[in-house]
Amino acid sequence: MAKIIDGKVIAANVKKQVREEVEKLIAEGKQPGLAVVLVGNNPASRVYVSNKEKDCAECGFKSYEYALPEETTEAQLLELVDQLNHDDSVNGILVQLPLPKQICEQTILHAIDPKKDVDAFHPENVGHIMIGDFRFLPCTPAGVIEMLDQSGIEISGKHCVVIGRSNIVGKPMAMLLLHRGGTVTVCHSKTKNLAEETRRADILVAAVGKAGFVTADMVKPGAVVIDVGINRNAEGKLCGDVDYANVEPIASAITPVPGGVGPMTRAILMRNTLTAAK
Ligand code: NDP
Repeated sequence: MAKIIDGKVIAANVKKQVREEVEKLIAEGKQPGLAVVLVGNNPASRVYVSNKEKDCAECGFKSYEYALPEETTEAQLLELVDQLNHDDSVNGILVQLPLPKQICEQTILHAIDPKKDVDAFHPENVGHIMIGDFRFLPCTPAGVIEMLDQSGIEISGKHCVVIGRSNIVGKPMAMLLLHRGGTVTVCHSKTKNLAEETRRADILVAAVGKAGFVTADMVKPGAVVIDVGINRNAEGKLCGDVDYANVEPIASAITPVPGGVGPMTRAILMRNTLTAAK
């Protein structure tokens, strides 16, 4: 039986710490603010944005929501970003992805002031992550590290295998594990003999985006399994990338979906907003 790493409990701890710091800033008359920009009508994005607003309220931040229509042009969005970059009451700016197809995501992400880039997607912040001189931590990967730390799981010296090489999850995840002394293998769709690679993992991180992708035969008995995936299964139920029912009995520790990495991503975003305000 694996230890279940409870993301909700750990995220609540992180948010409580943020709240304590924010209260000190409020007492000095400096309530930090996060601007969340949503373009279009993507229902999943709508849910993410409303969750972020709840987190802001819980942590004591002021949140400013900008909901723009689907047909917003790139120039209009750039204008809003520029306005927020120059607004002193806004410490952090988050543009919810994906954006409608007429808008280039890179152009927008690069236009955000790196000092307000709480998602850590700006190339300047990506560079900081690469060097290990962190300004903002990449939210999902840093959430995973926090879960491992708070569960007393050592990273240094461990063989860590990350499945996925996206800029949002896989690559920064590999980098954070490397900074912490892990020996890291990054796998992706071109990896040959994937199961052979994943079976070598002491810590296995799945960020693929395919329900039930990681099966029990891909996992070394006693491994720590972190499931970043958020998918819907055939019955429409929320699930991760890991075949939880069959992997849980052989893992030493595992994260559930929902209630695992998801709440941690949100908690680190709050921590980054506090960093921006400071
Ligand atoms: P992407 O689609 O950008 O990346 C998926 C990665 O998986 C790619 O690198 C791809 O390889 C790799 N992959 C796809 N098929 C295979 C395969 N058959 N074998 C090996 N590797 C494969 O997704 P994201 O990184 O953005 O997200 C991954 C998952 O995590 C999604 O379910 C997403 O919803 C979830 N997510 C969860 C978050 C959370 O807070 N819990 C936050 C962000 C994302 P290649 O590069 O070669 O195509």
